Amino acid sequence: MSGLACAILLGATLFLASCAPISPPPGQNGAVGQAGDLASPPFDTLFAAAAADELAGRLVIYFLDTGQSDATYIRTPGGKVLLIDTGDDDKTVVGFLKAKGVSRIDILVLTHPHADHTGGALAVLTEFDVGTLYHSGFAHTSEHYQLVLEKALSLQQAGELSVIEARAGQTLDVGEGVTVTILHPVEPLDTQVNEASVVVRVAFGAFVALFAGDAGVESERAILARAGGQLSSLAATVLKVAHHGSSGASSAEFLAAVSPRVAVIEVGPNDYGHPHADTLDRLTAAGATIFRTDSDGTVIVHSDGEGWGLLTGGD
Ligand SMILES: [Zn+2]
Repeated sequence: MSGLACAILLGATLFLASCAPISPPPGQNGAVGQAGDLASPPFDTLFAAAAADELAGRLVIYFLDTGQSDATYIRTPGGKVLLIDTGDDDKTVVGFLKAKGVSRIDILVLTHPHADHTGGALAVLTEFDVGTLYHSGFAHTSEHYQLVLEKALSLQQAGELSVIEARAGQTLDVGEGVTVTILHPVEPLDTQVNEASVVVRVAFGAFVALFAGDAGVESERAILARAGGQLSSLAATVLKVAHHGSSGASSAEFLAAVSPRVAVIEVGPNDYGHPHADTLDRLTAAGATIFRTDSDGTVIVHSDGEGWGLLTGGD
């Protein structure tokens, strides 16, 4: 795992260029991964500093190490903040955002109601100025998620938040060349909560990241079917692997279409067998280099819209 080299080097003062680049697999086109020529603060500084000018001009994605849960922080070149899921507690992600000096979250996506994705949502909605909330619309009756929705609706009624049910085909121009597209779900809603996961594509020039929530094979088949003959439209440089690497997601067919260079699994200690060995094999067979938040810590991917780089070793 190439992250190891970065993790070791990152303890010292160095530039991002010290991290080993990831070579493209044979025969695969697309943006060439490279650590880049970017002179940057050391990782610890980058991680802790207020985010005003770090990696300026780049799209920066933090796959946060929040244990057996999902939370991904994205900052656009124009300074917009996107948060996809919130971890499973009300402190970890809030603490990260505050440490970075974030006061406003422009877009919050809650992929589906499960607590390992929405556990921090009430705290995020309470402690930060959130512009728009995209959610699955899946009717889920947990007390926690009810509180999240009630909070969101009260903020909306006060004119402080837009609440939108995410539906395939919605596209949002975030500015500075960054486009967010919803790939899943469609109406009518799927009946299984994981399959209702909001799947999000974030594009910046030639760089694309795909965030699959906890979507399973059923969702993947639906996404492939909607893409029809345009499977290349699903290609992504980086894939947030679905459902913590579950065996019920990341089908070979889906991975062939996405053809990720990097696969990031947000996972912690668990009794589910995540990530599953077969899933890891399929990711590798698809040409992806795998990073995991349980062993690599927080994973950062950054891009200028052409090249891209990756850092590991947070936490
Ligand atoms: Zn999950």
